Formats: sequence, C-alpha cells, structure tokens
Amino acid sequence: MDIAFHVGVDDTDSPRMGCTTYIAALLVERLKDLGCTFTDYPNIIRLNPNIPWKTRGNAAVCLRFLCRENKTDSIKEAVLSAVKEHSDMSYDKADPAVAFLKGYVPTELSDFSKKAIQDIASVAEAKRLAARFNVEFDLIRGERGLIGALAIIGETLQGDHTYEIIAYRTSENRGSKRRVDEKSVIEMDSKTTPLTFNNYDYESKRMLITPHGPDPILYGIRGENPEVLLQAQSMLTIDEEAERWVMFRTNHGTDSHLRRIGCISQTRPFRPAVLQGRVAARPRTITGRHVVFSISDSTGRIDVAAYEPTGSFRNIVRGLIEGDIVEVYGGVRKSSVAHPRTVNLEKIKILKLAEHAVLENPRCPKCGRRMESAGREKGFRCRRCGLEKREARKTHVAVERTIKETMYVPPARAHRHLTKPISRYGREKANAPKSIIEKWHNP
Ligand SMILES: [Zn+2]
Repeated sequence: MDIAFHVGVDDTDSPRMGCTTYIAALLVERLKDLGCTFTDYPNIIRLNPNIPWKTRGNAAVCLRFLCRENKTDSIKEAVLSAVKEHSDMSYDKADPAVAFLKGYVPTELSDFSKKAIQDIASVAEAKRLAARFNVEFDLIRGERGLIGALAIIGETLQGDHTYEIIAYRTSENRGSKRRVDEKSVIEMDSKTTPLTFNNYDYESKRMLITPHGPDPILYGIRGENPEVLLQAQSMLTIDEEAERWVMFRTNHGTDSHLRRIGCISQTRPFRPAVLQGRVAARPRTITGRHVVFSISDSTGRIDVAAYEPTGSFRNIVRGLIEGDIVEVYGGVRKSSVAHPRTVNLEKIKILKLAEHAVLENPRCPKCGRRMESAGREKGFRCRRCGLEKREARKTHVAVERTIKETMYVPPARAHRHLTKPISRYGREKANAPKSIIEKWHNP
C-alpha cells in the first residue's frame, strides 16, 4: 500500500553556487527511479522576505508523492545525499535542512507556514511541531533551516498560486553569460502576457527571466498555468543547452507575504504591513535617490520609503502631497540611529487625493496677463498695459495632480518574488487543482 510522503528542503542557497530548486530538480528523477508517484508539481515557497537573516531568495522546496512504505529509508538517503552534495557548505549563512512528513498535512503545520511567510517563526516552535506530528528532520549544520523545511511542507498552496518553469545550465556553462536571445524574450512576453509575468523590464531594457549569478538556473518563466509556460518556453531562442527543466507550483506573485494591519501603532519590525494613512509630510528625496514620506493615523506616524531601485515608481511617490489618503504595502524596517521605523514600500494604493492649490497673482482683467505686485499693500499692476488694481488679491489656483486614485506597483525588476504584479489582479486562484487537494489533506 502506498503512503503520502512530503519532503521539505530549505536553505541550501548561497550567492556563490547552489540553488535549492536545482536540488529539487535532481531529486524528481532520483525519486521516480525509486518508484515514487508525484501528487503535485514540486513546490517553491518564498518565506517572509523582511527577515534580515534570510538567505538570498529565501526559497524552500517541497516534493509531494506517494511511495511504498518500505522505500522511505532509501528516499531519505537520496534526499540527504543530494542536499549535501549541492549545498554550499562554505557559506556560513546557509543552514540547509530537510524534513520528512508521512501522511496528511496537519492544520497546525499549515498555520505554522503562514507564520513563516507573514511573520517570524521560531526554531523552538518548529521543533515542537516536528515532535508532535512525527516529522523527521535532518539539520545539516545549524537549526534555522528547520523553519523553512517545515514551513514548506505545511504550505500546500490551497489558495492563490502560480507556476514557474525553470531550466538549468550544464555544469560547464555555469558562471558564464547566459545565451538567451533578448528579442525572443520580448516576443514571448508580448504573446503570452498577462498569462505570464515579469519576463522583461521595459524601463531598464532588461531580461528578468535570466538571473545574473553563477547559480545553475538558465531561465525561469512565471505564469498562471503549466500549459502557457511550456508554450512560452518553446518561443525562446537559446544558444546553449539546458541540462534539464522542471515545472514548479509556487507562491510567487501572490502577495501572500503581506498582511493588513489595523493601524500604525501595530507595525512591527521585520513584519509586513498593509496600512492606511494620511500623508503627513511631503515626499523628499534623500541620499541615494530614495524617496521618503510620512503617513499618520490616530495612533501615530511612520516613515514610508521608495528605494532607488524602484525607478519610475518614485515619481508616483513624489507626486503625493499632504492630506492624500493612501494604503501602503511593504515590509517594516527596524528603526536605527540613522532612521526611524520605516515601511519599505512595495506598492501603493491612492485612496483619496487631496486638493492641491497654490496662491498665484491675479490676472489682469484688461489683457489677461498675470499681474505683479505693486509693493506692500499697494495691490497689483500689469506690466503689459499698465493697469493698476489696489484691491486685487492673490487667488487660489487648483493644480492638476500628476497621480490618480489607483494602485501603483514598481517596475517588474524591483518586485520581490512574492509581489503580485498588476497583471495578476483579478486572476487570483481560489483553490488548488482538485486532484491535489484530495491527496494532501485529511478529508
Ligand atoms: Zn494688462
């Protein structure tokens, strides 16, 4: 009789090599050879991106399958050897960990995952849950990786989710420039959006499907379903061989890391915040060309920052004035000597624009030219026709706003993996594919 089995792998990334998703790609083949029947695409889950001690992308991967109970020891062995072989153990920020769960995914574990994505989960909690639900785990070095390895098993992507097809480079090509034809990416983008997203950044003219580091990824295309991604992949012109490719189901582009909070006084460092407030101080550009403004509500006031890499998005932010009512989305940065507690802006919804008016000199009633002051308490005079008007006063003139009451999101290159792009609004999925739900959760 086959049993359900879940393998979570976390924290094998380093900036130099390795890539957690590549280990999953290798394991898919090894586990098939051991007779495993996959019940879902391999999952990639991004955890809370606001945690400073995370690895580069903070990705964890999960493999879910059915297998013979007597095969579980060989499966564990295969997983451990792949992780040990492909983790960069020289990188001291990586704490690779693997976890194994037999059977259905308990609700408590799903709650823990939610915490690891939107909040801060602790190693102690992870250990407690592992003990309670007989999750076996292997910490290859430190303990921190256990959080991700456990969280990925619990996040079964029952709600909104997306797919990513990732192709990997052959080992001799790793470290060299990726030979993916830019024009073909632009063409693929124009033919497949909005069902794919974040392929290309038109503002900086940069391909987004190809990473730049020495990691084994050749490209990764993100989209709404596996079919469109296979189609998108076939449209690319690539001048190097891909070693293999894998389709993943993920929480990329879903905003699952964001959480609405009631008021400014409830913001907490390293946590997400979706927060409404009134613009209390006009945006100012600070060193590094970051743009900062403040919002307030009845409980307090907080700084909000749009950083330089968000490019033209800063022009939207610069268009804010005092009195605008906005909803800000982002992660909360801890206060320091240099700056107060700040929301790192990921997107902004402008709810209500304040009226913007400036005081201007009156126009000449005779010729229409803007008049000039005739001196203190002497009214205004017209330079063109000489008319003087002692009783004339400055007038309020409405200034047209440069921004609208709508949602603004930075250009794709500045998105976090989890940031939901504008093109996905209205495309959110309410459920996982039905066949998958039946296999994972206790009915
Ligand atoms: Zn005049």
